[in-house]
Amino acid sequence: MRATVMYGAGDVRIENVPDARIIEPTDAVVTVTRACICGSDLWPYQKMEPTDTGRVMGHEAIGVVEAVGGEVRKIRRGDVVIMPFAFSDGTCVFCHDGLQTSCVHGGFFGTTEVAGAQAEAIRIPLADGTLFPVQVDKDDALMPSLLTLSDVMGTGHHAAVSAKVGPGKIVAVVGDGAVGLCGVIAARRLGAQQIIILGRHADRIALAREFGATDVVSGRGDEAVERVRALTGGLGAHSVLECVGLDAAMTTAISVARPGGAVGRVGVPQNEMMPASQPAFYSNISVSGGPAPVRAYIEELLPDVLNGTIQPGRVFDRVIGLDDVPDGYRAMNDREAIKVMVEP
Ligand SMILES: [Zn+2]
Repeated sequence: MRATVMYGAGDVRIENVPDARIIEPTDAVVTVTRACICGSDLWPYQKMEPTDTGRVMGHEAIGVVEAVGGEVRKIRRGDVVIMPFAFSDGTCVFCHDGLQTSCVHGGFFGTTEVAGAQAEAIRIPLADGTLFPVQVDKDDALMPSLLTLSDVMGTGHHAAVSAKVGPGKIVAVVGDGAVGLCGVIAARRLGAQQIIILGRHADRIALAREFGATDVVSGRGDEAVERVRALTGGLGAHSVLECVGLDAAMTTAISVARPGGAVGRVGVPQNEMMPASQPAFYSNISVSGGPAPVRAYIEELLPDVLNGTIQPGRVFDRVIGLDDVPDGYRAMNDREAIKVMVEP
């Protein structure tokens, strides 16, 4: 089968790899009908050390179950399924707590250990706990929005939940990538009164406004902080969604939070140290977040996707086949595309 293999920074190839197959009796094999390129895939695209073996990329997909192992009970051949970006058993203490990204038997797709979804097919470990079947046709018009439940919409929602967004809250969203845009959707859905997006790309800002952003701040650094303060009566935001992962974004996030406020971070941190620790301390700002347990959020978000209340699939502004995936990485990295959908 064909798959996307990354060998180093800027080196993405479409290659023939061994077919996805059942290895453990709890596995399933899914034919990928739609996958996508994630903002977090751009970190290795920019920084990965060259390797000879490469890494099959991709952690977001929707597809059709092709085969199941002997111990799979809930998932059946022919099911249309959403694949969360992490696999999980669905039975351990953390899965029961709704934190499947910490599953004691779990892990992540698109790593050097577990092959990814930018491919014709994918092996799913722990299929019963991982996959979420949906009762729609594989070519339903809602597919782009359903695909975002694999990662970006659940991740934006996690940022909002971690930042304690609720009715009447003033929210700031740092980052105008697909996750930041989904964070705007989530904040509005949870009842925020004012939603300020910090971003600089005209196409993304326009979409943010349609998703519910009330204010746009396009400056950076101190200028952006001043502007958010001006928009919030000098006090700052109750809830800040950090959707980038760079130190500068985290510093901005903490700087625009009001005393007693909360920062929910979902951007993958690119440094070990957390910046702005002292300002966060002196203003009693809580900082939480991490890899979103999107498996837990599918249930909550799915009805709103099915009835059209939210349309997160609008973040996809380019659809390509597998052969064009290397150019899809380039387009996202150059900020030419917001988010690229792949139809293998
Ligand atoms: Zn578990």
